[in-house]
Amino acid sequence: MVKVVFHEMFKDEYTSDPAARYGRLDSALNELSPLYDFIEPEIATEDDILRVHTKDHFDMVSESPHLFTLALLAAGGAIEAAENAINSDPAFALVRPPGHHASPDNCWGFCWYNNLALAIRKLRAEGKVNKVFILDFDLHYGDGTYHIFSRDPNVTYFHMNSANTLYYTLDKVTECDLVAISAGFDRHVEDWGNMLRTEDYKYIGREVKRMTDRLCPNKVFAVLEGGYNHNVLGNNIRNFCEGLEGKH
Ligand SMILES: [Zn+2]
Repeated sequence: MVKVVFHEMFKDEYTSDPAARYGRLDSALNELSPLYDFIEPEIATEDDILRVHTKDHFDMVSESPHLFTLALLAAGGAIEAAENAINSDPAFALVRPPGHHASPDNCWGFCWYNNLALAIRKLRAEGKVNKVFILDFDLHYGDGTYHIFSRDPNVTYFHMNSANTLYYTLDKVTECDLVAISAGFDRHVEDWGNMLRTEDYKYIGREVKRMTDRLCPNKVFAVLEGGYNHNVLGNNIRNFCEGLEGKH
């Protein structure tokens, strides 16, 4: 069963960008709360952030106190989801701000700290995982995540352009003990990308489960990235989570 990592503070509007908009997570809470257990994260520590980012970058975000608290909480949410995946169940971190455009020393695209990357770095530092496969199905390329891991032979970053290629790509992976997913839903037909249907997110979830069943059962966590149509975001996340459970 998928666990959802969430904190009430993620409802806060923290900047003026589309990821931070008031009410953005409401449909996700409506869809997921009847189905799944929720876990509350703790804020990430400075050490957690500095496994990925420079001190200058850490300090730059800290100059905006409300944003800083939420960025640390989103990072903590990704860590909680990753630890849950390693110890027991798949997990979805319903967090914001997103993270995949955050590089070690800079960021853009509504991102500040790279939630997914610092969760992976923490587990690797603790010797809990070795080979990690990152699937990013957001509309946008996760340049931050790519930069962070480009010289790390143990972490593979794959950005999905079309659901058609997923089957073959995941099938080629032969070694992996954790799958980390940048789950952005802005490629949906009723969102910015105008490409994927809601059932495609279920298909993506099922393909990931097929891969983890083969290589590392249940060891998968996802972190919310984009997705800006408040009306459809929740249904898309629910379908993805159901796919992760192997549902049709
Ligand atoms: Zn995006």
